Amino acid sequence: MNKKAIVIGGGIAGLSAGIYALYAGFDAVIYEKNAIPGGECIGWNRKGYHIDNCIHWLTGTKKGTALYEVWKKVGALSDDTEYAKLDSFYSVICDGKTVTLWNDLERTQKELIEAAPEDEEEIRKFIQYVEYSKQCLFPAEKPMDMWGLKDYITIGQTMMDFPKVTKEFGSISLEEYSHRFKSPIMQKLVCDYLPKSYCAYSFLVSYATMVDGNGKIPMGASLQMSLRMERRFRELGGKIVYNASVEEIVLEKGYATGIRLAGGEFAEADYVIPTLDVYPLFHKLLPEKYMPAELKQAYAAPKAYPSTSGFQVAFAASEKFDRGETIFIDIDPIKVGSRSFDRMYVKAYGYDPIFVKDGKQVIQTCITQLDEDYEYWKSLSKEEYDIMKNKLVAEVERRIEEAFPELKGDLEFLDAWTPLTYERYCNAYHGSYMSFITTPQGKSVRLKGKLKGIRNIYLAGQWTSSPGGLPVAVASGKFAIQRILKSEKRSIDI
Ligand SMILES: Cc1cc2nc3c(=O)[nH]c(=O)nc-3n(C[C@H](O)[C@H](O)[C@H](O)COP(=O)(O)OP(=O)(O)OC[C@H]3O[C@@H](n4cnc5c(N)ncnc54)[C@H](O)[C@@H]3O)c2cc1C
Repeated sequence: MNKKAIVIGGGIAGLSAGIYALYAGFDAVIYEKNAIPGGECIGWNRKGYHIDNCIHWLTGTKKGTALYEVWKKVGALSDDTEYAKLDSFYSVICDGKTVTLWNDLERTQKELIEAAPEDEEEIRKFIQYVEYSKQCLFPAEKPMDMWGLKDYITIGQTMMDFPKVTKEFGSISLEEYSHRFKSPIMQKLVCDYLPKSYCAYSFLVSYATMVDGNGKIPMGASLQMSLRMERRFRELGGKIVYNASVEEIVLEKGYATGIRLAGGEFAEADYVIPTLDVYPLFHKLLPEKYMPAELKQAYAAPKAYPSTSGFQVAFAASEKFDRGETIFIDIDPIKVGSRSFDRMYVKAYGYDPIFVKDGKQVIQTCITQLDEDYEYWKSLSKEEYDIMKNKLVAEVERRIEEAFPELKGDLEFLDAWTPLTYERYCNAYHGSYMSFITTPQGKSVRLKGKLKGIRNIYLAGQWTSSPGGLPVAVASGKFAIQRILKSEKRSIDI
């Protein structure tokens, strides 16, 4: 009889762990609290429109990279996958000027220098370092703690110039980096996309991923990608149980015998792979004493290890609205959560027919929310929460219309959601849909996937490696199975 792996959570990490468990010859059952797979990587319908919750860019779309092979193996991508035909990362408008981070670096350089000649030297340096950052590829072959000398030599050879990027931009925040530019438009461009406390190199790597053709958006929306993985899991013989909230991992003498569901049902396992958010994992499913020291340290220092969520609004708008896919604008300051914002973005989804209906496309905005904003939302009563959401929807709508007069009277409200939505739906800590932000003050969190004192629990999920995201999630599922195979002294080539 095959050994049985129980996976907790049917998001990208859970589906990946389940699929790789089957490839490795185990039986696999996934327990998911919601009615559909995908976790954070989903979408939903409102008034006949599809709203996307996730993929702004999917690292690992470039053929020949190790991560692409992982996405293929789990059924998310194939050599025939079609991608959105987008030619830029994002645009910013400031004082009436617009600049764009094109996928074509030369074009970007020319445009930025024209808009901000006083920053020419710094712009040229930026472009050069984005070029170096293309070498930063996600190491998806095996967990780093299993690397040998040969792996380090290979990575050293392929990432020859990348250490220059971490040396120059690894210990300053985006906000600090923005001060190297004199022009307001360059300062805004640097700070607009990611939270300002992020290490500056993250921004360069994100843009480089786009430029390198390694961060495209698969056509058909995020939920469809999760459903393709679910299909692969089932085709390989896996079982997935929905509406099944795991309440406890049952322990006996340093061994997890199985899991207990909310209804009291017990399911036995040889291996347990939790992929849910690690905060509820170590506060509900397992005693807190098993929480790794790196996590305890991070939760105790939220300034160095912030977590990110968003206040988001979706509208339907004319399909003719075509000012670039993602565009940041100046706005009258607006208080969302506990902080005030003078910038906001609009993302138009007309690039994929799934987001278009009767000549209208979905447009969305997301205002970043941090721990202190979550606390604000959490402090509201249900009634106050609804009032605040509605008030902010009207405020956001007004600001979009002010920035884009052609949209006046054209916006149809579809939905609005907050950090509390992610907390409710995915049990996400402070509504965070990534792991801890990588800041200059905090160290990257890298969990080894094993817990001291329990022999057969193998962690996966985006919280195993900051700053999380889809690549970490999918690779962590594979890594958990490789760790199990290693413990059984079997080959880790899967
Ligand atoms: C608005 C938004 C935009 C994003 N954009 C991008 C992007 O462009 N690129 C990118 O790489 N990433 C992006 N992300 C992040 C990405 O979605 C996540 O990093 C990834 O989906 C996390 O996968 P996961 O499996 O680790 O965790 P999750 O998706 O959180 O999955 C965990 C699963 O466990 C389930 N669960 C929780 N508790 C229990 C329990 N007790 N019992 C059973 N099941 C349980 C949850 O319901 C969930 O399905 C975005 C996320 C959001 C929300």
